Amino acid sequence: MSLTIVRLYHDLLGTYGDQGNAEVLVHRAQARGIDVELVEVTPHEPVPTSGDIYLLGGGEDGPQTVALEMLRTDGGLTAAVNSGASVFAVCAGFQLIGTRLPNSQGRTIDGLGLVDVETIYTDEPRCVGELVIRYSQTITQPIMTGFENHQGRSVLGAGVTPLGHVLSGIGNGRDGVDCVRPEGVHVAKVFGTYMHGPALVRNPALADAVLEGACGPLAEYVDEFAEALAAERRTTLWP
Ligand code: GLN
Repeated sequence: MSLTIVRLYHDLLGTYGDQGNAEVLVHRAQARGIDVELVEVTPHEPVPTSGDIYLLGGGEDGPQTVALEMLRTDGGLTAAVNSGASVFAVCAGFQLIGTRLPNSQGRTIDGLGLVDVETIYTDEPRCVGELVIRYSQTITQPIMTGFENHQGRSVLGAGVTPLGHVLSGIGNGRDGVDCVRPEGVHVAKVFGTYMHGPALVRNPALADAVLEGACGPLAEYVDEFAEALAAERRTTLWP
């Protein structure tokens, strides 16, 4: 089996180290004997539509707005997702795949609309610090950790499922059903989160969930070092 992972614009959306998510997916796929190609797309290059997993990272408001306009003009990411590709998008990337968000001048603009999530700016303090969530899916290790650093608050559309629920930190920043604070989004093969880290380094189970969305059930693989790192963060932040 083969897998194409497309890392989008990490020179615009790599401020927080989220480009490392690609290396984790490559490593964990290869460990299962999957043949992986990592395609690097820099700004102004066409976005291929034949990828299996597309990765977007976080960035400041200016580069985020530039990346959104380039992705909109290019159309490749939207076409790929409409044909069934997976997306793992972090922070600025999560915001720009939603329906509406503020641009670098604070004016509300349309996002790519791949998921029904609207991001707004309020005069509340910036969300900065460690984030601990309980992942919504049934997996062996549902507690996940990351580092958040964002001004935007994201509101999920009615019935849209978050990636998880906040145990500690801010996450999407707005209460959901029954005052539970949602974090990120997970609809079909589209994942969004505020967790930097990179998130997939700190949460191997989440990396496997993204891979399984693209490849189907995976063979057992335990990376002792990755598991020890993830466990150290979990037990320190959510004892
Ligand atoms: N510019 C966005 C915000 O502050 C995203 C920040 C980020 O990607 N860390 O909300």
